Amino acid sequence: MFLRPSHGLLAASFVVLLAGIPASAGAAPTLQASSPGPANSEHKALLSVLPPLCDGVPCWNPSDFPEPQGIGLRRVYLNFEGATLTASSQADDATTNRSYIITSGGTSPGNTLTIGAFNRFDLSYDNGLDNRQQIIDYTVQKMREYHAPYNLEFTTTRPASGQYNMIVFGGSCGPVAGESCAGIALLDCTDASPSNIVFAFPAGLQAVDLATTATQELAHALGLKHTLDTTDFMYPFIQDTLPTHYGEGPIPNKDQTDCGGGSYQDSHEKMLSIVGFPGEDATPPSVIITSPSNGEVVKFGDSVTSTVDDGSPISKVEFSLNNVLFETKTSPPYNFQIPSTSPVGQVRIDVRATDDQGNEAGHKVNVTIGTGNEDACDNGQCDDGFECVDLLCYPDAPVNTGALGEFCSDSESCDSGVCAELEAETRCSQTCSVDVVCPEGFECLGDTACWPQEDSGGGGGDSGLCSIARPGAGMMSSLALLFFAVMFGRRRRRS
Ligand SMILES: [Zn+2]
Repeated sequence: MFLRPSHGLLAASFVVLLAGIPASAGAAPTLQASSPGPANSEHKALLSVLPPLCDGVPCWNPSDFPEPQGIGLRRVYLNFEGATLTASSQADDATTNRSYIITSGGTSPGNTLTIGAFNRFDLSYDNGLDNRQQIIDYTVQKMREYHAPYNLEFTTTRPASGQYNMIVFGGSCGPVAGESCAGIALLDCTDASPSNIVFAFPAGLQAVDLATTATQELAHALGLKHTLDTTDFMYPFIQDTLPTHYGEGPIPNKDQTDCGGGSYQDSHEKMLSIVGFPGEDATPPSVIITSPSNGEVVKFGDSVTSTVDDGSPISKVEFSLNNVLFETKTSPPYNFQIPSTSPVGQVRIDVRATDDQGNEAGHKVNVTIGTGNEDACDNGQCDDGFECVDLLCYPDAPVNTGALGEFCSDSESCDSGVCAELEAETRCSQTCSVDVVCPEGFECLGDTACWPQEDSGGGGGDSGLCSIARPGAGMMSSLALLFFAVMFGRRRRRS
């Protein structure tokens, strides 16, 4: 399965003695766990796994998340203020408050579940942190401390845009997941889903357990499994002595078949391999042209608006029309105007961003551009060389002959029967491998499909494949996956 639900932690009662909470206001208290006090610290394992919702078929559409996100800064929203979540069997997305997990607690897809704001009186013990804000400050400080070696950023304010994981601190496990647990997360095996929602439930926990629980659940959302190392945040049970770091150890038997198997996990190394060290960035920016949309008709002077997000500063955003660079911006807003020197008729708009570490990505839309002085169509007809779009005559789109390298919309429009996609650009392609080479002017990407070589024209300056900071693996797997998606499309249509 693409993503597999994991089970939660179990809350167990024990007492933590506190040592030296500074009296000064605002200073972050330091707590130290000690051995259990009063009895009743029985640990009860919670071994159940969330029921698969799609009967053996992946509920997630892998083509929504074609590849792991790659090393780069991840933002994590620590939400102590409650949330109203919509249950979804298709998505787990903090940015839209859609939660996959709550479907397992009985919230039907489409319905909502409200989790109240963090209430300190839900805790079994406050460890001497005697007001709500102190507990929140302590938890936030610990999240930062625990993750200091990694490329993660924590905030208690919901980010206004871009991707982020959300940890909800509130409520109890039952209504959310139909279980008894301290926290719960989806195990996002390849860290493919960019904005998971995970939970840390104060009910039954001590104040000091909030951060360790949240840490484990966040790590599941990044792709980490449990280990049997009791000092590792990934140890699956609440303990008397708090875990202190991402350690390493054997993976519990019942977890071993998850995420493609494996019997041992170095949690620290795995964190580094997923998000990297602070400041490390191999993730291309996220670029979305918000207007115009694909297929729209626009005219000279109209605005092209886009959103650009990245963990690193953006060094430039380039605006191209039919692969010709028209304008470069080095600061937001990254909006442009269709210039009067623009080509007219069917035009491909490309907005491409590069961050200060050289990572690059773009978004393209196809539109019809007019001067504003187009002739009206005559009963839907135009002169030769023109086509009628929205009652006006625009120059014809270039004819697609189906030849290798031509833009395509589906596999049928290509002589080869293969329409491949790379970075939102679709072109007629053909399969290739080590033994089957591509024609001159084309290269074989990912041992999968032929693609025009960057220097063989049409490439426009430094945009394109070769200037991506880490060409190769990531890009090629992207091509391969999207390519397979196209193949599936063809198969379906034939049946
Ligand atoms: Zn866990």
